Amino acid sequence: MSNFSDIYGYDTIKEHLQSAISMGKVSHAYIISGGHGSGKKLVASTFAKTLQCEAGGIEPCGECHSCIQAESMNHPDIIWVTHEKPGSIGVDDIRGQLVSDIQIKPYSSPYKIYIIDEADKLTVAAQNAMLKTIEEPPAYGIVILLASNPDVFLQTILSRCVVLDLKPLKDEIVVRYLKEHYDNMSDYECRFASRFAGGRIGRAMTMAESTEFAELRRDVMDVIENAKDMDSADIMASVKRVASYKLTIDDYLDLMTMWYRDVLMFKSTNDTNLLIFNDKISLIKSQAETMSYEGLQDIIESIDRVKVRLQANVNFDLVIELLIMAIKENS
Ligand SMILES: [Zn+2]
Repeated sequence: MSNFSDIYGYDTIKEHLQSAISMGKVSHAYIISGGHGSGKKLVASTFAKTLQCEAGGIEPCGECHSCIQAESMNHPDIIWVTHEKPGSIGVDDIRGQLVSDIQIKPYSSPYKIYIIDEADKLTVAAQNAMLKTIEEPPAYGIVILLASNPDVFLQTILSRCVVLDLKPLKDEIVVRYLKEHYDNMSDYECRFASRFAGGRIGRAMTMAESTEFAELRRDVMDVIENAKDMDSADIMASVKRVASYKLTIDDYLDLMTMWYRDVLMFKSTNDTNLLIFNDKISLIKSQAETMSYEGLQDIIESIDRVKVRLQANVNFDLVIELLIMAIKENS
């Protein structure tokens, strides 16, 4: 766990929270929004730890009893609300862990802080159940909702919360983080991970640490390089490999989109500095020569359609097979 000064980027949000602490103007309800891997939990837990720190500064001291408890995720007055069903946070979760619990005074600290991760999963009934708590909280009560998509909240909830949006970080911030934390990554790998992570350090870290990602990239490149010569048996073999990592299918599709955007970018600008896959320049050049603008657009649109179809739970193998055929036809 970290201090505010250890968090890369998000300067305005850090200043906002730290000045609220120093002026004693902390709100009772926050929404911290941002994509997967953007650091919502990091910001929330740093804020909570600082609020509860016995030293009372704008950074946690890291040494007092409260800080030590917070760091070990064992703080009696920092409550991470859990939920029974994986897909939704229901009324019972909220009544049991928040609405009735917040009536009990803090155990040992100035505040009682409730953090609800994946709060986009709150049902409408659960949101209604917590409304009164957010409207008229006890003086010591603070509720922090973490969500990738704050649009799902009722207007009545939104209007009572301070919304802090963790926007994508600049590439150079993510690259700096990776360079300072991963000795074995080359400049190119850092830049690639940063672009791919879309300005989210958490996502870039997953890439830096995952061996599966390297495999995934190899498989994507295999389809990209060889689609035009693949027969149906090759295509089926490729579909099987994709199916083995269904969990990261979005990464697979994002990589493909990034590739064809690169080809399109090079085709229209002839500028290699703008490319993300700049270890594959000769292949990008040759595809840019042989593929038409329409063909490239068609592939990029097919990838988008695959994403939509997969959300609708259509047959996975079939959708991927059709995608590879679309790439083959346009290659
Ligand atoms: Zn402390």
